[in-house]
Amino acid sequence: MLHQTTRALFGALAGSAAVKRLASRYGMAGRRGFARRFIAGETIDEAIRAARDIQAAGFLLTLDYLGESVSEPAAASAAAREYVHLLDVIAESGIERNVSLKLTQLGLDIGRDACLRNLRTVVEPAGRLGCFVRVDMEDSSHTQATLDIVRELWRDGARHVGIVLQSYLRRSDEDVRQAIAAGMRVRLVKGAYQEPPSVAWQRYEDVCDAFLRQMRLLLDDGVYPAIATHDEAMIEATCAYAREKRLAADRFEFQMLYGIRRDLQASLVKRGYRLRVYLPFGRQWFPYFMRRLGERPANIASVVRSLFHESRAKGSSLSD
Ligand SMILES: Cc1cc2nc3c(=O)[nH]c(=O)nc-3n(C[C@H](O)[C@H](O)[C@H](O)COP(=O)(O)OP(=O)(O)OC[C@H]3O[C@@H](n4cnc5c(N)ncnc54)[C@H](O)[C@@H]3O)c2cc1C
Repeated sequence: MLHQTTRALFGALAGSAAVKRLASRYGMAGRRGFARRFIAGETIDEAIRAARDIQAAGFLLTLDYLGESVSEPAAASAAAREYVHLLDVIAESGIERNVSLKLTQLGLDIGRDACLRNLRTVVEPAGRLGCFVRVDMEDSSHTQATLDIVRELWRDGARHVGIVLQSYLRRSDEDVRQAIAAGMRVRLVKGAYQEPPSVAWQRYEDVCDAFLRQMRLLLDDGVYPAIATHDEAMIEATCAYAREKRLAADRFEFQMLYGIRRDLQASLVKRGYRLRVYLPFGRQWFPYFMRRLGERPANIASVVRSLFHESRAKGSSLSD
């Protein structure tokens, strides 16, 4: 399947130091850096500015301070402190209080206890400030640990924390049922990582079937589910199901990534649906950016065009 092949290719390129150097040099340089289509900026100030624009256009938002695969304990606790600072800035700025984060950013690969401690450092002030915290889902080697950690916080009463479930995983029907039984808020996505057939559906049709099945379960009995996709067929099926079930438009929301299908984002809001934009920012944008490229080969052409343009303008070679 083409999707799987490009994902695998971009997964491999994401590990290349040369590609990372090249991307870091040009990706966010100036106002025309090619990564700016998907990343709001490298600083909190840039992110808040982008957030204000998004809100002014009628969208909801969630801010993601990019970072993942942290292997040093000091870096994981520093990431937690950065999130706490972000919460303060969000509260001061008056933008919507909603963040997304990844557990490997907070030390999941170092150890469960360290990660849980760091997550609590973020979740406690978030609760005081009335900020919702969405724990993103990473590759399948982290699925169970991520769900276990969120369930532990949930047992402590942290109702302002939600999870993400990926419909490409064979296990997700069951995870959706469990989340519904617990009353946990779910963001449903197709899934962004390269996964083997033993754990994940490989055919596009099977992933879509699972997505639609799980969307229906969530709309029937879930707590304010988030249907996160740019796939018009999935979106129209969700709208049709909500109409059939006479579900008011404020009982669920759609979510899309910053810079992707802005036309569709605007048209859904115009039709009266809630649409949350996932707004990533920060210096660690490279792996996130590579996943976006891997999802759509057409993105690569525009990056290559922009790279040649930049390197010609600066008089340097692409191979340096
Ligand atoms: C708000 C949000 C949060 C997410 N959080 C997670 C998470 O925590 N864990 C996780 O594994 N995945 C996450 N994802 C990513 C998700 O799993 C998919 O990889 C991604 O959304 C692409 O799938 P799709 O449903 O849009 O459908 P696709 O079938 O991939 O795409 C449908 C159409 O959308 C457009 N499109 C999709 N991707 C791109 C792109 N990169 N560039 C340009 N156009 C594009 C194209 O028009 C394409 O034809 C998230 C997605 C969203 C929207």
